[in-house]
Amino acid sequence: MPMAMALFILGDSRSVEMALLILAFSAVLAVAGRNMHRWIESTTRLQIEREQLIDRLQHATETLESEVTTSRDRETALQDITAALEDQTRSVHLINGMVQRLQEATTDQELTEIIAGYAPQIIPGRPGTLFLMNNSQNLLTAIASWGDATGSEMDFPPDNCWALRRSQTHFVPADGREVRCQHVHAAFSGGYACYPLLGRGGIVGLLYIEADADAAGQDEALNAFAGNLGLALANYRLREALRVMSLRDPLTGLFNRRYLEEALVLEFGRASRTDEGVGIIVGDLDHFKRLNDTHGHDGGDAALRAVAQVLVSNVRKGDIACRHGGEEFVLVLPGASLEQTRERADELRRTLAQLEVPFHGKMISPITMSIGVAVYPKHGSSPDAVLRQADKAMYQAKQHGRDRVVVAGSLQGAPDHGVPI
Ligand code: GH3
Ligand code: MG
Ligand code: MG
Repeated sequence: MPMAMALFILGDSRSVEMALLILAFSAVLAVAGRNMHRWIESTTRLQIEREQLIDRLQHATETLESEVTTSRDRETALQDITAALEDQTRSVHLINGMVQRLQEATTDQELTEIIAGYAPQIIPGRPGTLFLMNNSQNLLTAIASWGDATGSEMDFPPDNCWALRRSQTHFVPADGREVRCQHVHAAFSGGYACYPLLGRGGIVGLLYIEADADAAGQDEALNAFAGNLGLALANYRLREALRVMSLRDPLTGLFNRRYLEEALVLEFGRASRTDEGVGIIVGDLDHFKRLNDTHGHDGGDAALRAVAQVLVSNVRKGDIACRHGGEEFVLVLPGASLEQTRERADELRRTLAQLEVPFHGKMISPITMSIGVAVYPKHGSSPDAVLRQADKAMYQAKQHGRDRVVVAGSLQGAPDHGVPI
């Protein structure tokens, strides 16, 4: 600017031109400088914004990636939980089915079939054996086995199992970290678990499972199986005891009159279908009142028990021995002819006559029986009718001297009411 001013002052045309030129150049420089500054400013700002954007993008990408991974993990976890729930529902359903069937079981055979059928479904891939404790609480016996479990003995006393000694589950790994039970064969080196099965009154049995001990401990289906088995077995035992009590005479253990009535209906029905006979033997002990008077009521009871033993050892498979009441007994011989029934009755009479029952240092003897014999269908078509005929024959045996066998209808004309000898 000062230079341009000086040239103007000089005043010649060349100086004025020069001055104008300088002024023009300065103006151009000023405008260009201002624009350049603006451009640099905006470029720098853009650069910063771009870097910020890249940062945000990277951050967003990272967040997105981690969210995708988490959601995949969640999905896998959800699938695992769903599968576990399905497994659990399946095993609960199966256990319910097993328990319901066990509640209906009436024989040991049924009990065995139900457990051996359900166990491989409820705890697949876990071989095992179920043991039942006997009534005297001194022996466990295998009643069901599945999946080829071979490591344990089939009968053993409770003391041979650590689970029963300590009343808690005994997990034994294969590596020898835990003491092994005596009932497990030395040759079996695998892991196993013993579950004591508890009912209301104590230990009712034992569940033995061959499996890795840790896996067994975490297997919920296995734990639920063991827990339910104990109660189901205890219920079965209780029902069995009640059933036996309701069908058996408590003094002699023979079947009672109620059982006889039901059994006769079945046997007569079967006999009518197969065209076979049914032999009935009715026996009443002679002068039993006298025996009671001599040896006391307890002596009489001992004699009744001994007579029952003779009956039991004389019956064959399928025969039924009952205490009909007091000192009266009934034997049912399905399929027997009249002659066979009469022979069996006489055999029984002879054995009893030789019986000597030790009681308080003395011998109770002789014990004799008067016996009446009748058979289906010869002496009647219904259980009642045949029983009545056998009973009548028994009274005739009393009248004819006791200690004898009379076949129904064989003493026609003999007095119905005689004087007992
Ligand atoms: P009979 O030869 O005519 O049959 O004479 P009996 O003495 O055997 O017959 P009676 O009917 O006069 O007496 C039966 C006796 O059996 C009377 C009763 O006390 C006894 N008795 C019945 N049930 C039992 C029992 O459970 N235990 C004992 N000890 N005695 C019983
Ligand atoms: Mg009598
Ligand atoms: Mg009598």
